[in-house]
Amino acid sequence: MQTPFKVAIVGAGICGLTTAIACQNAGAEVTVFEAAPKLLPLGTAISLWPNALTCLDKIGLGPQIAALGHPFDRIVTRHPDGTPIMRFDLADLHAKHGQTSRCVTRAALHTALLTEVTADHVKLGAAVENVSWTQDDATMTMADGTMHSADLVVVADGLNSRLRAQVAGPDTLRPAGYGAVLGLAPMWRTPPGWGAGAEACEYYGPNGRFGVIRSDINQTYWFFVSKAVPPATRAVPVDPAWLMDQLRDWPAFARELVVATPQDQMPQVALNDHAPAKHWGNGRVLLAGDTAHPMLPNFGQGANQAIEDAYAIGLGLERGKAGLDLAQFYSDMRKRKADGIVKQNRQNGQMTQQEGRFGQLIRNAVMRMMPQRVVTAQLDRHFTVSPPT
Ligand SMILES: Cc1cc2nc3c(=O)[nH]c(=O)nc-3n(C[C@H](O)[C@H](O)[C@H](O)COP(=O)(O)OP(=O)(O)OC[C@H]3O[C@@H](n4cnc5c(N)ncnc54)[C@H](O)[C@@H]3O)c2cc1C
Repeated sequence: MQTPFKVAIVGAGICGLTTAIACQNAGAEVTVFEAAPKLLPLGTAISLWPNALTCLDKIGLGPQIAALGHPFDRIVTRHPDGTPIMRFDLADLHAKHGQTSRCVTRAALHTALLTEVTADHVKLGAAVENVSWTQDDATMTMADGTMHSADLVVVADGLNSRLRAQVAGPDTLRPAGYGAVLGLAPMWRTPPGWGAGAEACEYYGPNGRFGVIRSDINQTYWFFVSKAVPPATRAVPVDPAWLMDQLRDWPAFARELVVATPQDQMPQVALNDHAPAKHWGNGRVLLAGDTAHPMLPNFGQGANQAIEDAYAIGLGLERGKAGLDLAQFYSDMRKRKADGIVKQNRQNGQMTQQEGRFGQLIRNAVMRMMPQRVVTAQLDRHFTVSPPT
């Protein structure tokens, strides 16, 4: 009898769990090692675009994901009173890619993924300190000193990864220069300017951007992105009085959402990225998700790219690839696209995060004149799952 290919995954975030399912499907014996002692249903929401939805479908999770959250069919930027600056209808791209974008809560997505990982194969309170490899296998050293070996280790320990540098060499965190406060309000009230249908909408105000997406019938995902949010490397609780003061000149809907949001669902988060790594690993250790391509959230693609990584690794295994062959397959399929999106997120933030009057006038004029075909081409590239080479 052939021994199954052993895959160890570091981190039970969206990337780690999706990779676990994709590798299980390919017949591997998978174990996920997660540092947290408990997996709590925390966090706000994210947008899932056609690229991640296509991969989740191919991994066999289509029906579970379609039952989550709320779909949206356009992207709009507006003045605080609701007047549109730029409006982009997603219908044609949704039809082309056969998927409709949706906003889902992190908790619901995480639970849906966790349900699909073989019971007992997620080890909690299992922090990985070190990873090393030979030509034949990889070995992880845990915080408690124990060691685990596998045929492949996928490192998905997130933005502040302690293992990335061990695999891809040292690099530096690049702060965005602005930060965000996110919230999940248990209410829905149609925001200014919306008509029928649902949007991923950002209001461009005097001191930042305020985003609103419906994440369920009675739930709103909102975010305030501003240079006034202090830089950080980890999420911390926000001071609601400070936030209300920041929003004092905004229309009432923004403050109403903040007031309706439980404080434990309103984190102030770090916005940092890294320059693209030279490589994403070797024959026995692969980086994936935020560990491989930590990016700013301006296109809402971080988790979508992580899901594409998971699909690519699973597909490689399914095709019988291992060692350097798998690393090459994965890198060819994924690296160029993900690195490109890291760069685009940074450029997009430089353009959209204008907090001076003159900069705002120029930004708004540029966005108003932006040809729809330019937006279509960029989103089409994001939504296209890179074909295997
Ligand atoms: C404001 C904001 C908005 C966003 N909006 C979107 C969006 O709309 N759409 C989208 O696609 N993306 C979005 N993102 C990005 C998205 O959140 C991330 O890309 C995604 O969550 C990354 O998942 P991950 O599994 O790679 O990492 P994480 O979610 O960070 O998971 C890493 C896991 O590894 C564990 N871990 C860490 N160290 C160790 C260790 N040493 N040993 C074992 N386990 C360890 C952690 O506890 C954690 O569970 C947004 C990000 C931000 C900041």
